[in-house]
Formats: sequence, structure tokens, C-alpha cells
Amino acid sequence: MPLLRPGAALFSAVVVHHRMHLGSSNASSFAAIFGGTTRSKYRVNIVGAGAGKAAASLFGAGASARQTLEQHTLFGAYCRVMSAHMADKLAKQLIAGDGTKFRKAFRGHRRRKIPKLATENLRSCQKCIEEDVETQGFTSWRVLHMLPSIGHCPQHGAPLHQEGPDRMSSDGSSSFYLPGERPSREIEPKWTSLPMSDGYASYLKLWIEAFEGNLTGIAPESWMLVMDAVVRHFGSIAEANIQINSVIERAWSVPIADIAFCLGIADGSQFVQAELEQRIHASYVASRLVIVGALDEMKLSPPRLEHSPWHSPIQLSAIKPFGSWLTPQTQTELRNWVMDANFPPALFQKLSDDMSAKAIDRDIAIDRIIIRRFIATLPDDLLYRLSMEQSWSSSSWLVKELRRREIAWSQGQL
Ligand SMILES: [Zn+2]
Repeated sequence: MPLLRPGAALFSAVVVHHRMHLGSSNASSFAAIFGGTTRSKYRVNIVGAGAGKAAASLFGAGASARQTLEQHTLFGAYCRVMSAHMADKLAKQLIAGDGTKFRKAFRGHRRRKIPKLATENLRSCQKCIEEDVETQGFTSWRVLHMLPSIGHCPQHGAPLHQEGPDRMSSDGSSSFYLPGERPSREIEPKWTSLPMSDGYASYLKLWIEAFEGNLTGIAPESWMLVMDAVVRHFGSIAEANIQINSVIERAWSVPIADIAFCLGIADGSQFVQAELEQRIHASYVASRLVIVGALDEMKLSPPRLEHSPWHSPIQLSAIKPFGSWLTPQTQTELRNWVMDANFPPALFQKLSDDMSAKAIDRDIAIDRIIIRRFIATLPDDLLYRLSMEQSWSSSSWLVKELRRREIAWSQGQL
């Protein structure tokens, strides 16, 4: 089996494997590589379901399943904005063949649309195809081309082509092929309205940096400190919002609402403000990368493993205390629970206030039912300490949850 280069989609290996085993059906090729439990859908596999079996069957027993996930599936892009806890949990599920939990990592919004994780169709870049043929003799699908929030190749800036409608439900019934083997169509029209500006070009490059793991500043804890530092730098959220928006619009040469539309950003033209208010779910990558591009431009670069010479890293300071009387230990614990569950920092700030779940929902647009479900997972002793360290009214989420547990406990005793 030829080894795939980092960034090449696992699906490419399925095609090659299929050709090496003439006579096997498409469905059995999928099953041979991803395991029988995986639904043989391209969109499930592009995010990484079945990577454990795939790593072993394609690259041998020595291959690391986690590395396969990070280098050959969209997990490698999305895990960069998740807490380590959430990324580990999701990786285990994907490796075991379960792709159903991926969207759950994006949960939390009835009002805000959950972004699409992968494009409906396979996509390719003419330059990448030429490069592949020259250097390895066969073409391969690229993971980053399947991101719904890009329309051009991150490597070459060339407009992506999409494969025919028969790929729409690539469920094993259509034949397998590699990029360039069939005629492909022009990209969706929305991308032609977005000029290849400096802003868009650096955004595309940032996807590569994120995928390769260099852009550590977009991970939840780090991003929280970056947003704090940006607000401190400009003096207020309102001023930071104005400055960042104007840098973005200048660099992209189109209004912010058009950028949000083309990239499929759920908060629309308000996305910079929503990020500054720290109420965006960690899993929204595109909006974060647009802002990183602007911050780089403003010499306020978020943390990276390795900075380029032209970057001036932003100065971060320690995490701000929150809650009126909460001890540092209680603050840390509450924050960790919230972040590990992939909720934004705005949620732990709100949970430290004497508020109801309904009021929190109204303020930061996280569904109250989802808030209540999360609250139910918090450990008894953390709730107890919260209740002792500051005062709470009877309508607060905390008092209601304590009462709910008391009733559940007494009913369990009967
Ligand atoms: Zn390319």
C-alpha cells in the first residue's frame, strides 16, 4: 500500500486498495478498510470514523490511529479548536468506528446553525493534481479541500473544482476514482463573489497552519486569553470590535457580511463581536481564523509553536478571576468543566452569577435545555462549594439544580 502524504484523505487509499483487489465490491472495499460497523459514506469517513481499523489495514500494525486521524481526516482541522479532553474523547470514538458523536461536539445551539463539517461533494485542485502526478505517480484527495468554509486550494489559491452529482451520496454504489480521472464542475457561485484578496489568502494559509498543529493559539484556553488581551489592548469590546472589523474589511476587500456568508459563519456579520464576548462554541473554526488573520496584521499574533519572523506575538496575562466570592480552586474547577464540555468561556462567567438557565440562554444564546443538561453532569461537591461560597436566590440555576437532586435522591430512597 503506498503511504499517503500528510493532508491526503483516507478515501484516496480506499480507491487504491479497491483497485489492487479487483473483483471486490465497493462496499466490501469500504468494509475491509474502515471496518464493518462504519457506514460506508464518504462524509462519515472524511471526518475520521473508522480511523483505527483504517490505520491498521492501510499502514500496518505500527501506524498510530491518532496520527492517521490528524493527518488524513478532517478531525485534524477541527480538533485544534477543541479542549484536549474533548479531542481525546472524540478521537477514541472515531478510532472505534463511531462517527455519530462528531456533530455533538458542535452542539449547544438551537438558534445558531451548526456549521456543515464537510462538503457534499469531493473537491480537487488542478495544481495539486499536477503536483501529485509529478511527484508520486498517482493523485489523491486532500482533506482541506473538503472544508465547507473554503472555496480555493489553501496551498495554491486556485479555485477548487467539485466532482459530479454522482458523488452526492457516495455510499459505495458509485465507482471509486481519484482526482482528475473524471470531468469536474466549477465551484459553487458564492465563491466567485469573493475576490482573492490578501485577507482571503492569509485565511487559507491559516487553515494549513491549524491543520499542521502550529497555530496553538486557537485552542479554547489559549483563545480565551487572546480575546482578553485584545479587549485590554483596545480598552473595550466595542472598540476592539470596530478595529478588527475594519482591518478585516480592508484586507478582504468585501463587507464583513459577505465574508460570513461565503465562509458559512453562523453568527453572520456579528461574528467578531460574538468571539470578543467569548460566547462562540470552541468548534467554530472559520470565524476564529478570519480574526487570527486580522490580529497577525495588527501585530497581535496569537500563540504558535513556531512564529514567523514577521509575527509579533500578543502579550497574554493570567486568567481573570470571576464570581463574587468563589475561591480560586472552585473557579478553576468550574472553568475546566465548562471548557472540557466544549462550551465557551461566557458560560462559566454566567454560571458564577446568581442567574437562571433561562436568563443565561437569553444573554449568551446557548439553549437552556442544553445548559440544564450540562448542569446535571456537574459533581455534587462542586455544586455544594458554589452554594457555600456565595449567595444564591431561589430562582438561580444552582438552587434549582440542588433541589432537583434532593428530590431525585429522596425518590431513590423510597
Ligand atoms: Zn492545490
